[in-house]
Amino acid sequence: MKVADFRSDTVTLPSEEMKSAMLKAPLGDDVYEEDPTVKELEEYSAHLLGKSAALFAPSGTQSNLLALLSHCQRGDEYIVGQHAHTYKYEGGGAAVLGSIQPQPIAFESPGIIPIDLIKQAIKPNDIHFAKTKLISLENTCFGCVVPQDYIHSTKSICDEYKLKFHLDGARLFNASVASNQSAATIAEPFDSISICLSKGLGAPVGSVLVGSFELIQEAKRWRKMLGGGMRQAGLLAAAGIYALKNNVERLAEDHQRAQILHEALSEIKGISLKPYSAQTNMVFIDVPEESLNQFHSLAKDNNIVLPNGKELRLVIHLDIDDDAINRLISVFKATYSE
Ligand SMILES: *Cc1c(COP(=O)(O)O)cnc(C)c1O
Repeated sequence: MKVADFRSDTVTLPSEEMKSAMLKAPLGDDVYEEDPTVKELEEYSAHLLGKSAALFAPSGTQSNLLALLSHCQRGDEYIVGQHAHTYKYEGGGAAVLGSIQPQPIAFESPGIIPIDLIKQAIKPNDIHFAKTKLISLENTCFGCVVPQDYIHSTKSICDEYKLKFHLDGARLFNASVASNQSAATIAEPFDSISICLSKGLGAPVGSVLVGSFELIQEAKRWRKMLGGGMRQAGLLAAAGIYALKNNVERLAEDHQRAQILHEALSEIKGISLKPYSAQTNMVFIDVPEESLNQFHSLAKDNNIVLPNGKELRLVIHLDIDDDAINRLISVFKATYSE
């Protein structure tokens, strides 16, 4: 029985085809801008998102940080969701390394910071205040596609107050496939977008920051300072190119499997799905405390790896097949009889 790991879409292993693309990639020293494969990945990413330039980074955390450091100065402020990755899950990097003050605001629903609260948080030009410089959104957020009309309303505020606009698009392609919009359409209003190659796209390592030529030049300086200047990085970039060319359309399969899992779980009493479950590749379900040990040990017996705790985020990805979904449904049914 194959191990089925539902903890995250970061756990995927590179396929044989991806590994062979990596081995064949022409390489050079990317700090000297001499790695043709890194250049190809950057040009292709910029093209896909309809922007002029891009920069390969070792992680999404670094790619988001590069954007914040490049847009903002010491003493500037960015507006961000209270549970957004760029605020909550990146070690406070913007504040620690950039002296950039975050202004977190609670999401009203996944990915949505109420427009009136954004407006209230924007500081007037007054020596008491940090200078509000940027708004950061996330798409998908908790597996939900952020509606494009909300993105455009937020963009209008950026225009009105002369703010920069960043997207943490770790799962931008899930949003694109689920909403039938091109990645470029979703990216259009933003000054910078960070995409992850190592989530559902299945590459082992890497993210790309996409934006204007000037922004990317600035980001390249910060990347070097942060230790993200990688040498023969084409080896990894090749996996990214393979992922972007072969693994985008298939995200729809992950979304379908999430839907199947969600529907099967919705028929089981005593467990409760979150309202935002299964919008793309994530199913969110709460299970009762009492049965947790039994549930987790049965999962283990079936070679299923789950997140800890009673509030479960189950993530579907390229290494989760129909059999894995069926096994997980059986574990749920065996623990919480219908
Ligand atoms: C995974 C993720 C990132 C980046 O994470 P890394 O592990 O640093 O690559 C950023 N934003 C979101 C929403 C993510 O899920």
